[in-house]
Amino acid sequence: MRIDSLETFSNEFVAMVRVRTDDGAEGWGQTSTYNADITAAILHRQVAPHVLGEEADDIGSLVERVFEREHKFPGSYLCRAVAGLDTALWDLKGKQAGRSVCELLGGTPRPFPVYASSMRRDITPEAEAERLAALCARYGYRAVKFRVGKECGHDEDEWPGRSEAVVAAVRKAVGDDVKLLVDGNSCYSPQKAIEVGRMLEAHGVVHFEEPCPYWKIDWTKEVTQALSLDVTGGEQDCFLPVWERIVESRAVDVVQPDILYMGGVCRTLEVVKLAAGAGLPVTPHSANLGLVTLFTLHLMGAIENAGPYVEFSIEGEDYYPWQTGLFAPGHVVEDGKVTIPDAPGWGVTIDPDWLKRVDHRISRRA
Ligand SMILES: [Mg+2]
Repeated sequence: MRIDSLETFSNEFVAMVRVRTDDGAEGWGQTSTYNADITAAILHRQVAPHVLGEEADDIGSLVERVFEREHKFPGSYLCRAVAGLDTALWDLKGKQAGRSVCELLGGTPRPFPVYASSMRRDITPEAEAERLAALCARYGYRAVKFRVGKECGHDEDEWPGRSEAVVAAVRKAVGDDVKLLVDGNSCYSPQKAIEVGRMLEAHGVVHFEEPCPYWKIDWTKEVTQALSLDVTGGEQDCFLPVWERIVESRAVDVVQPDILYMGGVCRTLEVVKLAAGAGLPVTPHSANLGLVTLFTLHLMGAIENAGPYVEFSIEGEDYYPWQTGLFAPGHVVEDGKVTIPDAPGWGVTIDPDWLKRVDHRISRRA
């Protein structure tokens, strides 16, 4: 079963990928979101030539082969593009075996807990608290994440006093039984992060994500050692030697690879394995309702060191219009859980009308 063609269906935000083999089988995946049109170009230029005509079976070897052939380009865009190949091949493998990807990875499709994840800072503490409480009541979320500080903010807040106010307001609105998670998005110096962390601990926050600029691994480690709540991070990191350093130095308490920033399932499993060796749980980054959340559900249903929940964005089409109508069936949140599909492959169909509306490009085996 050799790879015959790789296709992308893309706009600026999303690129769906179809792989076809010489026996007529096909699988669907997705590159990472945003600048997906550029990522699609990289898939055709720097990924397809190394895999067309190759056996589709051994996904890990194919992915490795691309990184070896493109060893001068070890960066984010190559990983984002390879993620499209990897996830399409997993879908193909699942469809051929008549099993879900979750099962192929050794797991069991089932309802899996998710946490309600806010993407916004341009929202008042009161409005944020109100909507999170309403969503908890409606969907049964038992954990919520919201933003503190300013993105890459050099210790500044989005506006003065917002962080303290939003933590207090959300806690008051959702009550003591809902777990609170916050994301600093690379805002703080170690000293300020520790000060903010103490405030968070006083409100019973359990998860402080990316407190420091993510490339300052030693800063993050300093914060992790000073605080008793879980300091978490790693979503931006796609280079395995950096992951080795993060895990070996215990810079965080919880690792958060993003399957699509990483380059797909195979490379994410490398991070999962590293973390397992160090006794660290994995709570991946899956911050939008493109396919990354679906892929993450399958993975989390299968790994031993899965954290307690999957990130589930609460932002709808008013905030991210590009997420709408990509695939079916869509996710349903019930009792704070989303069910991992048990149909073969990823268990969804990409919307044919969406595919017709975006740019199509194909690379074929010579
Ligand atoms: Mg984050």
